[in-house]
Amino acid sequence: MFDIFACLRDDHDLRLVVLAAIICLLSTSTAVLMVRQTPRHGIAPLHKWAALGGIATGFGIWSTHFIAMLGYDPGVVIGYRPVLTLGSLAIVLATTTGAFTFLVRRQSVAATTVAAVVTGSGFAVMHYAGMAALEMPARIIWDWRYVAASVALAIAPLIPALHLAAGRRDRLSGVTSAILLAGSVIGLHFTGVAAISLVPERMPEGLLLLSPQTMAGVVTAVSLALLALCIASWWLYRQTAAVIIVSERQFSALVMGITDCAIYMLDSNGRVANWNMGAQRLTGFGADEVVGRLDLSRFYTDEERAGDGPKRALAHAKASGKYTGEGWRLRKDGSRFWAHVTIERVADEEGRLIGYAKITRDMTQFKDNQDQMNEARRHLDAALEHMHQGLCLFDADERLILHNSRFAQIWKLPPDSFLPGMSMTELARISLEARTGTEVSEERLAAACDMLRQTLVGDNPSPLIHEFNENFAISISSRSLPDGGLVCTHEDITERCRSEAQIAYLAHHDGLTGLPNRSKFTRWLDREIENAGLRNRRVALVAIDIDRFKEINDIHGHGAGDDVLRSFALSLTDALEDEECAARIGGDEFVVAKIFDSQAQLDDFVARIEGCSSPRHGHMPLFQVAASLGIAVYPADAQSRDALLNNADLAMYRAKASPTEQICFYQSGMDEHARYRRQLANDLRQAIDRSEFHVAYQPQKLLQSDKIVSYEALLRWTHPRLGSISPDEFIPLAEETGEIFRIGEWVLRQACAEAAQWDEEIGIAVNLSSVQLMQPDLPETIASILLEMRLPPRRLELEITETAFITDKVRALHILRRIKNLGIRIAMDDFGTGYSSLDTLHSFPFDKIKIDKSFLLGAEQSGQARAIIRAILGLGRSLDIPVLAEGVETEGQLQLLRDEGCEEAQGYLLGMPLIAPRGQACAAILG
Ligand code: C2E
Ligand code: CA
Ligand code: CA
Repeated sequence: MFDIFACLRDDHDLRLVVLAAIICLLSTSTAVLMVRQTPRHGIAPLHKWAALGGIATGFGIWSTHFIAMLGYDPGVVIGYRPVLTLGSLAIVLATTTGAFTFLVRRQSVAATTVAAVVTGSGFAVMHYAGMAALEMPARIIWDWRYVAASVALAIAPLIPALHLAAGRRDRLSGVTSAILLAGSVIGLHFTGVAAISLVPERMPEGLLLLSPQTMAGVVTAVSLALLALCIASWWLYRQTAAVIIVSERQFSALVMGITDCAIYMLDSNGRVANWNMGAQRLTGFGADEVVGRLDLSRFYTDEERAGDGPKRALAHAKASGKYTGEGWRLRKDGSRFWAHVTIERVADEEGRLIGYAKITRDMTQFKDNQDQMNEARRHLDAALEHMHQGLCLFDADERLILHNSRFAQIWKLPPDSFLPGMSMTELARISLEARTGTEVSEERLAAACDMLRQTLVGDNPSPLIHEFNENFAISISSRSLPDGGLVCTHEDITERCRSEAQIAYLAHHDGLTGLPNRSKFTRWLDREIENAGLRNRRVALVAIDIDRFKEINDIHGHGAGDDVLRSFALSLTDALEDEECAARIGGDEFVVAKIFDSQAQLDDFVARIEGCSSPRHGHMPLFQVAASLGIAVYPADAQSRDALLNNADLAMYRAKASPTEQICFYQSGMDEHARYRRQLANDLRQAIDRSEFHVAYQPQKLLQSDKIVSYEALLRWTHPRLGSISPDEFIPLAEETGEIFRIGEWVLRQACAEAAQWDEEIGIAVNLSSVQLMQPDLPETIASILLEMRLPPRRLELEITETAFITDKVRALHILRRIKNLGIRIAMDDFGTGYSSLDTLHSFPFDKIKIDKSFLLGAEQSGQARAIIRAILGLGRSLDIPVLAEGVETEGQLQLLRDEGCEEAQGYLLGMPLIAPRGQACAAILG
């Protein structure tokens, strides 16, 4: 065994040994400081600091060695070989610099070991090269065991020393590291020295050597330089460290103090390494619960965790440097908040992953607002899309901001044909071109836009309405917006225009025939009369009424009636020429007017109109239709429109009343007649109250026995001025005015009262107007009169004519049945004159048929009339209905009836209508 300390004691100058130890410690401390530098912005990179540490160590170790060598003076050293001396310095500088640089770049156990081996070997090579540089009159004998031990002692402490220098940051480890480094040097040196023994020998001559004094000078200079270097780097280190600490503290305070956003530092595995107040506030966790304990996924929802959300976020940040995302995150209490998250990869100087910086913002409120806004926008979009109108919104520069799809539909624009930002003019162009199918000129375009702008002026802007054709009409309403923009709504009003046109048409035309109606015609007439007055021309007005139109309706149905009207209207339209106008002004009433100058023109006009009702006319239906025409002329017959219409009407009524005339021209007496009828109708109203009526009774006799079986009550009116007026004249008038209800009841009451005085066997026949039959309470009225007059119902017979069934057959039959159920007899009057006498006979069980007097009156001259009488009598027999013949005036007629087997008759020959038949009745019975 060899004793290092004995070597130290025996062979070394202690003062120099202490100096060497100080220099050694200085250099190793500097090395540790340099290796421990961390990269900072604006400061040299790590490996340069390490290289500086290597240089300090190299110089330091070298100086240590030679100071120690100077202290180890066996008294025989003559000098130092310069090449080896400087070579040893170069070796140690190269190995320490290289090893330290390598160490800081690759921080691992293997790298530390490699760096320790290289550094220790460098020390050893430097030491033995330095020993070899000694020149003295002796030969060195090496003890190889010491040499090996010295190398091992140099390397061994370096492994923990470098590990502590590079891996830790605290002061104790730094000091330990520096001491271990120094220990490596000292161990090497003294064990190395112990490995040698000197054997005296002659020195070769003429060698160039550095004297120990020179060497002492050089080493001193190097040591002083090293000292300066150490002091300078120490000072620099303190300075930068101070700046760094201040800035780190400030930065940390800043980060920690931020409360409205959560900042986390995550380690490379995603575990929370540090966080700020904001994170604490946001998550509700305390720092002690989280930092170093929880990882990122704790804040994710179960679904996100299941989908590997946290891992994917970190992987993304790791790969691309940054991850940004949004999602629900959890607080400590389990509540959720919507987070905007940024995760950034944090790497060291060399690009190695250190961890992640994560910034989380609570965006719940923002998201709520945004959700609400989205919802509102969706509603708005839905409202816009479902609007009936098309809508466009323009900004102050008339650039399109938004529109709805209805707008595109209205203008038939493909949805992708326009984009926000398009100018109003351009939009107008493509819209017009799409709708019209033609190119739109600049002028028209400018005019269209100008019109649109003009609608904006004023407080109550009216819409711009444009009808392109019958297939497209549009209404555009514009409103200015406070920001200078404008909103336009477009409404397709094609249908509305069409129906308005239709309504306007219907308002002025007759729906059935398409002819102008009364209002349009009167306007035309007013205008033409005025013009004619000014130009000395004439206006002919023809009033037309289709004959027996009511019967056509009743017999052939309303469809046929309509056909007749349409056909007639068509004929009129065909017949019209210039300055002529036709109109339908009532059910079957038409008017045609013409502006004319000569009689020939009028004659031609009348002939044309007359031809319209002719069955030969192409438009008329197959069955025969005739019309009555009345003509009046302005200014000869009337001075005004109303008078002209009235007088043409009068002429027409005259034609209607005449069996021979189809056309009548107005004559001045005609209005006299109308006035007369009006007066008569007026007087009729007061006739009952003024007791101007009385009833005459005409007997109805059995022909075989000449016995009176009943009387027919016939109403008589004695007008105070005009004397006796025929019921044929006033009954139709009473029917027209409705007076017939009162009159009919009065007659019935009179007749029943009268008959009640008669012998029980004699009946009373009362005529019932078809208008009366429309009274729903007629049966009750009759019943109450019979009751009042104490007349048995079987004695009363009501005579009705076929016309009673024309208007409303069902209703008439219903009322008749109710009357018959009371026990009252019903007779069919004027049989044979109507259209469907046979049909009527089938509809109701009549108690009597009265053959119209016209047949009997003509029977003596006409074989046909006689044949009809015979047929009716046969019909009565076969149906078992008694038949009475009216109008027996002559013996011949009476004989004829007897010959034909008629049982009952009535006529002047058999008895005149008399006022007081009672006496006669009694006489007849008696007779
Ligand atoms: P009608 O029911 O056919 O009445 C018979 C008409 O023939 C009566 O005329 C009568 O005077 C007349 N007459 C009777 N015998 C002869 C004759 O031999 N030769 C000719 N040429 N005529 C004869 P009148 O009284 O002028 O009545 C005319 C019509 O007035 C009646 O025809 C009847 O339809 C209607 N009428 C009369 N009185 C009433 C009444 O109280 N109520 C209703 N609703 N109608 C009445
Ligand atoms: Ca009668
Ligand atoms: Ca009659």
